[in-house]
Amino acid sequence: MRLILLGPPGAGKGTQAQRLIHHYGIVQLSTGEMLRAAVAAGTPVGLKAKDIMASGGLVPDEVVIGIISDRLDQPDARKGFILDGFPRTVPQAEALDRLLRSKHLKLDAVVELRVNESALLQRVESRVAEMTARGEAVRADDTPEVLSKRLASYRALTEPLIHYYSERRKLLTVDGMMAIEHVTRDIYRILAAIGASDAKADKKASARKAPAKAPAKASAPAKKAAKAAKKTAKKATKAKKAAKKTRKTAKRAVKKVKKAAKARAGTARRTGAAGKRKGSAKAPKKVTKRRANAAKRLTKRR
Ligand code: AMP
Repeated sequence: MRLILLGPPGAGKGTQAQRLIHHYGIVQLSTGEMLRAAVAAGTPVGLKAKDIMASGGLVPDEVVIGIISDRLDQPDARKGFILDGFPRTVPQAEALDRLLRSKHLKLDAVVELRVNESALLQRVESRVAEMTARGEAVRADDTPEVLSKRLASYRALTEPLIHYYSERRKLLTVDGMMAIEHVTRDIYRILAAIGASDAKADKKASARKAPAKAPAKASAPAKKAAKAAKKTAKKATKAKKAAKKTRKTAKRAVKKVKKAAKARAGTARRTGAAGKRKGSAKAPKKVTKRRANAAKRLTKRR
């Protein structure tokens, strides 16, 4: 399962990603998390990203694309992944398409969490309160001012991805305003539906790709047509055989009749009774003549 979670800051992408990775046994690839780790570790990427992130801006495309490309090559991403916070711009989405193609990976779906913007500020405020209560460090960009900047950047640069993935028939939209469990259930449901149609598409694709020697996976109508053709051919062969048999039987019958007629003629010749039978007028004459001649010859010799 390879997914992208799309939605404005505070839509619940991180929360849903956590639930989905457990359910599907895949990994969450959050560019925000990776960048925060890089900032904390003081790596060159972290140093580059630190101020941009704190101000609510976007880290340059080449930086995040590089991070994602490396991360996709890690063994734990082989079983599948959820991209959270990436791509954030159309050029990033195009770069991801190229990356996946080069790695022979297919994206299953893009899940958009649609939320009411007025609810976002409230959500981020309660996230800050919860983190503070747990004694966790609060994100530098989780302030009302920076949030409004992040929202503006989402609208201008990330929202066009909804159209981008909808055109590519990858977009699935879920109402992100429902309770967390409800949103998760909805995501499972739509992903199950996509899984079913993907299986069909794969079947069709493998039938198209099948080498000439093994065209085993034909589509259902093609299979039906082939079966019907086979049946018709079988019927034709059967009819041909029957006609041959009839011809043979007729020939045999003619032969039999001829043989019988010949036998009758022979018997008539031998017994001389042929002449008495109807339709054998010539035979008795011949026999009588021959006999008369023989009698003549006998008389002469005597
Ligand atoms: P997030 O945790 O996804 O809200 O990201 C926190 C911050 O990290 C963002 O406000 C950006 O400054 C930066 N960031 C995360 N992902 C990206 C990305 N795909 N492209 C550019 N900047 C990003």
